[in-house]
Amino acid sequence: MNINQKSWLTVDAKSDFPIQNIPFGIVRLPNKEVVAATRIGDKVINMAALYELGYFQSINEIAENVFNSSSLNNFIELGKPVWQSVRKVLIELFDEKNDALEKNSSHRSKVLLGISEVETLLPVEVGDYTDFYSSIEHATNVGIMFRGKENALMPNWKHLPVGYHGRSSSIVVSGTNIHRPKGQMKPPEQEVPVFGASKLMDFELEMAFVCGKKTELGESVNIEEAEDHIFGMLIFNDLSARDIQGWEYVPLGPFLGKNFGSVVSPWIVTLDALDVFRTESPEQQPEVLPYLKSSGKKSFDLNLEVLIQPEGGEENLICQSNHKYLYWNISQQLAHQTVNGCNINVGDMYASGTISGPTENSFGSMLELTWRGTKPLKLNDGSERKFINDMDTVIMRAYGEKDGLRIGFGESVCKILPAK
Ligand code: MN
Repeated sequence: MNINQKSWLTVDAKSDFPIQNIPFGIVRLPNKEVVAATRIGDKVINMAALYELGYFQSINEIAENVFNSSSLNNFIELGKPVWQSVRKVLIELFDEKNDALEKNSSHRSKVLLGISEVETLLPVEVGDYTDFYSSIEHATNVGIMFRGKENALMPNWKHLPVGYHGRSSSIVVSGTNIHRPKGQMKPPEQEVPVFGASKLMDFELEMAFVCGKKTELGESVNIEEAEDHIFGMLIFNDLSARDIQGWEYVPLGPFLGKNFGSVVSPWIVTLDALDVFRTESPEQQPEVLPYLKSSGKKSFDLNLEVLIQPEGGEENLICQSNHKYLYWNISQQLAHQTVNGCNINVGDMYASGTISGPTENSFGSMLELTWRGTKPLKLNDGSERKFINDMDTVIMRAYGEKDGLRIGFGESVCKILPAK
């Protein structure tokens, strides 16, 4: 990657989308057509139009239906060499020294749109969804709150990336607003459970990776080849109702407290684009089993932020964390997911679990930030939050920054509406 490369399209210094990014997404055009797209600065690039105009002629695998699609699954299935060729074509086409498209105003008008002219949609058809629990700071915080300091981490935690199979039907794209869930819960002062709207509405700051290569039942992904099965990453807000969760989770784990909405950012950023942000993973003690031993830089230095915006009010930055804090990296997660022969499919999502850091302002959930409601957060307008109020908007952002180059994911935005 050339850190200094520039595009003939304008890119603001604070943009997440320089020419080095080239994320992939699905957009609805003003004429209602749904196509695959990428983005540079605030311009959306219609890849179906580029195909029709012959710009992908050099890539034989790309056929008519690949970009004229309501999901990226067909494109992703073509495999890593094809994603890489497509990225290369796009980077060359929009390089400031290449005026082939820049000077062709009729082509340009078919290919380029302003970001405000399109609707960004869920980028993949999600088959299966797993949620891990890979942040040691988060697992420790939650453990201290529920079991005390002595037993904070369960005995298995440092030996395997703990996870559970979640629900894909309620994974939605940024901009989708979610009603506060109703359900059964048992407040500590009550003898019997009650039914009603959740009072302890929370977010979880997570990143997810999207599976890019399937396996057959019975196969396992070797940890050194895990990244060949990963198309890219996005922001994942795993909305959680702590009171529903607290009552239902024993003994089979999270269920209705977790599956009423998970909000992802619309652009999938490839591992190729994130290469410059690679960093060492935290040291693991005790030593992990051989199938979980990874070498090289498998973690990513990505700044993560959570903001709360009350209705009509301003944004309040309440959390600053980093993807590199994850104890278990994405290669370890995928190796573990498949070690028993469980098959995976293109479009599957694997979320990290809440990514908390070591300091109090880096905790990735309200549960931790307010320590179960005992230390409310004060917002700019003077109001307090123990958890999320109705009509609050939760905004998550993620980006890497190195030597003046910023590559980011955009946003996951979700307003919490009153219970239905
Ligand atoms: Mn989660």
